[in-house]
Amino acid sequence: MHKTLFAAACLLAAAAPGLAAQPAGKAWSETWKAENRQWKAYHLMSPVGEKLPVTKTLIADVLAPMGINVLIVEVGYGFEFTSHPELQGRGLNKDQARELTRVCREHGIRLIPLMNCLGHQSWGPRPGPLLRAYPQFDETPSIPLDDKDIYCREWCPSHPDVNKVVFDLLDELIEAFDADAMHVGMDEVFLIGDKDCPRCKGKDVGELFAKVVNELHGHLVGKRGVEMLIWSDRLLDSSATGYGKWEASATGSHRAIDRVPKDIILCDWHYEPPETYRRMGQQEPFPSIRFFQEKGFRVLPATWRTPEACVAMIRASRQGATDKMLGILFTGWSNGPGGASLLAALRGEEDTGKSAETAKRIAATMRAGLEEISRQPSAAR
Ligand SMILES: [Zn+2]
Repeated sequence: MHKTLFAAACLLAAAAPGLAAQPAGKAWSETWKAENRQWKAYHLMSPVGEKLPVTKTLIADVLAPMGINVLIVEVGYGFEFTSHPELQGRGLNKDQARELTRVCREHGIRLIPLMNCLGHQSWGPRPGPLLRAYPQFDETPSIPLDDKDIYCREWCPSHPDVNKVVFDLLDELIEAFDADAMHVGMDEVFLIGDKDCPRCKGKDVGELFAKVVNELHGHLVGKRGVEMLIWSDRLLDSSATGYGKWEASATGSHRAIDRVPKDIILCDWHYEPPETYRRMGQQEPFPSIRFFQEKGFRVLPATWRTPEACVAMIRASRQGATDKMLGILFTGWSNGPGGASLLAALRGEEDTGKSAETAKRIAATMRAGLEEISRQPSAAR
C-alpha cells in the first residue's frame, strides 16, 4: 500500500475503533486465545516468495499436525516494503505475507512477525539495510567496515529520526500479516551507549535500553493495539543469574527491567542442558523463567537444538508456574530460510543441504519437547 494511503488507513482505524481498527483477524485472535492456553511455538527463519509452497507445506502438513499453534516468523528486512523501498530485501511481498497468515489460521496457528530492533543491524562489520540507507543511525560509525571483531552493529537509541523509519516498517508488517502481535527482537545488544556516540556517551545503559523498549511499546501496544514480544536476554543480569553474557547481560541493560511495561511477552532463550549452567554456578536450572513471572511478565521459554536441554527447560518451567508461563518456543536458528530443511528432517527425507544436520537436531528437539508436554498435560498449566 502507498505510504500515504496506509497512513490514512491508520488514521481511520484510530478514529473508528468499531470498524477499521478491528482487523479481519481480530475475532480469530480472540478465539485463538480462548482455545490455546499453552503456546507450542516455532520460530521460522526468513521465508522467501519462491519457496513459499515449501513453507506452506511445512505448516499445513507437519507443524500443525504436531500441535504447533504459534509461528514466529523472522522477517526483518526480508520484505518488499513499499513505505521504504530503499530498505526492502529478498523475502516476501504483502500478498505472500497475507497468504502465509491465511494458511496458518486455517490450521489454528497464530502468526507473529519478527523484526530485529536496535541490535542485529549487521552480521559482522558490514551494515544491514537500515544502516546502509541511513548511516547516521549507526551507534558505532567509527567501527570500520573491515573490522574483524564486531559481532553486529546497532542503531543509536538516542537518534531522533530512527523511530520514524522503523515504525513505518513495523506498521507495514502488521498490516501485511494482519498481525495481532509483533516480536521486535532486541537480543544480543552489546554496543549500546558507546563511548564514541555523541548522543549516548555516558548515559545509563539500562535507561537507554528501557527507552527503546518503551518507545516501541508506545507505538505497537499503545497506538496499534497489538501485543509485543522481545527476546529477554538483555533484561537478565549475567552475574546474578549464572548465565553467560550472550543469554544474559553484562552491560547494565538488565536495569531496564523495572522501567518497562509488564504486558510485554519475554522470550527467555537458553539452549544448553542444566549441567552446562551448573558448571557456570547456577544452582537451579533456568531460574529466569520464574524470575520473570515474579517480576510480573508473561514468559515464553525458548529452546533450540538439544533435546535434553529442551526437556529440562520444560520441566523447570513447570516448577511454580503461574498463568504467566505461556509454554515453549522452538527456535529455528541456522536451519536455512523458509523451513525446507526442517520439513525434510521432520519427514525423515534425505537432505544433503548445509542446514540438514541442524535441522535434524531441531526436529529431534521438537519431538522430545512435544512428547514431554503431552506426557504430563495436567502439570503443563
Ligand atoms: Zn547513540
